[in-house]
Amino acid sequence: MPDARARGLTGEAAVVGVIGWPVAHSLSPLMHNRAFAHLDMNWVYVPFAVRPENLEAAVAGLRALSVRGFNVTIPHKTAIIPFLDQLTPAAAAIGAVNTVINRDGWLVGDNTDGLGFLQSLREEAEFDPAGSRTVIVGAGGAARAVAVSLADAGAARVVIANRTLARAQELADVVKGRGAQAAALALDSPELEEELAAADLLVQTTPAGMSGEADAVLPVPESWLRPPLIVCDIVYTPPETPLLAAARRRGLRVVPGWGMLLYQGAAAFERWTGRPPPVAVMRDALLEALAAGR
Ligand code: NAP
Repeated sequence: MPDARARGLTGEAAVVGVIGWPVAHSLSPLMHNRAFAHLDMNWVYVPFAVRPENLEAAVAGLRALSVRGFNVTIPHKTAIIPFLDQLTPAAAAIGAVNTVINRDGWLVGDNTDGLGFLQSLREEAEFDPAGSRTVIVGAGGAARAVAVSLADAGAARVVIANRTLARAQELADVVKGRGAQAAALALDSPELEEELAAADLLVQTTPAGMSGEADAVLPVPESWLRPPLIVCDIVYTPPETPLLAAARRRGLRVVPGWGMLLYQGAAAFERWTGRPPPVAVMRDALLEALAAGR
């Protein structure tokens, strides 16, 4: 399979990329460049390391360079909003941007994380959020994309359990505002076991369980993981987190975090190029990189 180095891009090549700090760990260049090569497209995806203090200049530069679009990752997802011309309803609702589309110099900030999350549930576990009950662990930026997308997809109840209760409460209020029932709990709340017993889905959104996290422990006791609960951990390094391994031991269906990464990328690809993304090719690129410990 030819990669970006071997493809012989011409002067007409379209450029997309990702801005982040750090950005070297990003798997998106591999995923998108493999897709462009597969479709024999004269496009290239480039990582741009942008320090927080350079964000405004970087966005102006990307506009001046007529890039077709770019992804946005930590720590720029919210900070970029004042430098864009327009937000999609998804980005406005989530309060963060992960994909920018350049329409002839007019920068539109979108968010495909929630969409990617929902798609991963559908593809990996045939899960339909309509009428469902979910417990989300964590209340940061990713949890917000997850919670808003579940509420907008017709979830009946979303419970947010977080180390800092006030942040869980804030997110629960957002969910209520979008028409679903919601509750906020501290991570050590005795009510968490009961909520989990009544839930269809558990979504883990904190960095606990990431490779290298010294205190990687399960967010809930393993004995609380009972069928027919579906367990999703949005952490994807390692692809098999301690929580997913525990859920499998308990015979539960699991949704690994690479699914959200894959489908948010596929949605960005479609927005930039107007072409259906070669999802199987992107998935192979991602899984190969994860298996190689990239
Ligand atoms: P964030 O905004 O910084 O939020 C982090 C959340 O984790 C907060 O709720 C925080 O609780 C909690 N937390 C952090 N360390 C903890 C610990 N040791 N114990 C318990 N809770 C802890 O981060 P984010 O942007 O939401 O990202 C979170 C994770 O999701 C990252 O690992 C990221 O790689 C992953 N992610 C994956 C995808 C994907 O496509 N699969 C997409 C986005 C993000 P407090 O409120 O108490 O601080």
